[in-house]
Amino acid sequence: MNNLVVAKFGGTSLADASQIKKAASIIKADVSRKYVVASAPGKRFSDDIKITDMLYKCHKKFLSGEDFNDVLEKISERYGKIIEELGIDFDIKSEIETIKQNLTSSEKFQTPDYLASRGEYLNSKIIAKFLGWTFADASEMIFFNENGTLNEEKTFYVTGEKLKALDCAVIPGFYGVMPDGSIKTFSRGGSDVTGSIVARSVKADLYENWTDVSGMLSADPRIVKNPSVINFITYTELRELSYMGASVLHEDAVFPVRKAGIPINIRNTNSPDDKGTLISASLPKDIKRSAVTGIAGRKGFCSIRVEKSMMNGETGFGAKLLYIFAKNDVPFEHCPTGIDTISVIVNSALFDSKREEILREIKNSLEPDFITIEKNLAAIAVVGEGMVNSKGMAAKIFTSLANAGINIRMIDQGSDELNIIVGIDEADYEAAINALYSDMIK
Ligand code: ADP
Ligand code: ASP
Ligand code: MG
Repeated sequence: MNNLVVAKFGGTSLADASQIKKAASIIKADVSRKYVVASAPGKRFSDDIKITDMLYKCHKKFLSGEDFNDVLEKISERYGKIIEELGIDFDIKSEIETIKQNLTSSEKFQTPDYLASRGEYLNSKIIAKFLGWTFADASEMIFFNENGTLNEEKTFYVTGEKLKALDCAVIPGFYGVMPDGSIKTFSRGGSDVTGSIVARSVKADLYENWTDVSGMLSADPRIVKNPSVINFITYTELRELSYMGASVLHEDAVFPVRKAGIPINIRNTNSPDDKGTLISASLPKDIKRSAVTGIAGRKGFCSIRVEKSMMNGETGFGAKLLYIFAKNDVPFEHCPTGIDTISVIVNSALFDSKREEILREIKNSLEPDFITIEKNLAAIAVVGEGMVNSKGMAAKIFTSLANAGINIRMIDQGSDELNIIVGIDEADYEAAINALYSDMIK
């Protein structure tokens, strides 16, 4: 029995009035669901545009001096339809007018973050009204430091105190406030992080994350047909999978609840009887699982391979190389090494934005024999707590990919043996995920 539950609903779960009604009946079905974190309306059908994307578009138009009233009008219409179908009294026109006035009046409001945040702000106000609950604004509870990191101490304290004083409340996801009072958002999908912060702040017994799939699946359902649901998963496995591309939960959403040992339950708004995935520090004792829990991956990497004879004798060569990337704000993802070679695997788009500087600095300060750049790489992680105790996991992965005719361009194994990551051509990505799913999980 859970006494206090924080329930976060994602964009598709709140995309229109009928979805909001489904969410409301889930909320009202259990009195322990006292705090709800809401996303902005997402896609209603595959070609639809998320409110958040419309808001970013509006900001782009504003910046380039174009007329943005048409986009604001569409946003207003979309909320207007929701309000009408929910049968509530809510003055969306004056809310949109305020946003417009803010945008044109003060620099503080002229950021993409301010405008993007209005998606969750308006949706949460509407949902609060529909539920008859209090709207508790994230800009008064979620605080960032000057450098953009979360001010955890202040956030957990203020959010805890504010919400304790309220019986139940709806909190907008995705954003918080900077020390100068301006709005800052998390990265995309960040309402998951808000949900986790709220759960931690109120010391919830459970953090429910309601979405459009029945839990964390063992592979991306857009690539593999009907992948199995993972019933139980540890925070560590989830973090690995979400970081590597299993986009059902934001990769940073694990941290606030993990420290407090609050489990996360991923559930399906469209199928609320399904148990979903339970994420906690350790697995229930009596469950049997295969060595591999899940597979996830991402495209869009490139490899910068630096070769120099006798590199192994040059102390600090690797450190100097990585420092060049760090100095240029390009974080490295993997760094496989040979005796006279070292490769740095990074996000292609980030690298391209700093390419000239990085290559110049490598040449000047390291004097390598060759630098080779390989583009269009994808990375796939095979993840599972059980992999530590299973022999021949790497061999199985290589055989599976070889049988599918896929060439491996990079291999990396985490030191905790929880994952094996392979780098392949982007063109082989879908085939590789399907081959690994059939051979390692199915
Ligand atoms: P929400 O709007 O509820 O936050 P998201 O779109 O952010 O939902 O995340 C849910 C989507 O994540 C699913 O619809 C699915 O297409 C995608 N997804 C990718 N990988 C996985 C996975 N391993 N398990 C479940 N869903 C996944
Ligand atoms: N609405 C935001 C986005 O589309 C945040 C979220 O949905 O979690 O990224
Ligand atoms: Mg999401």
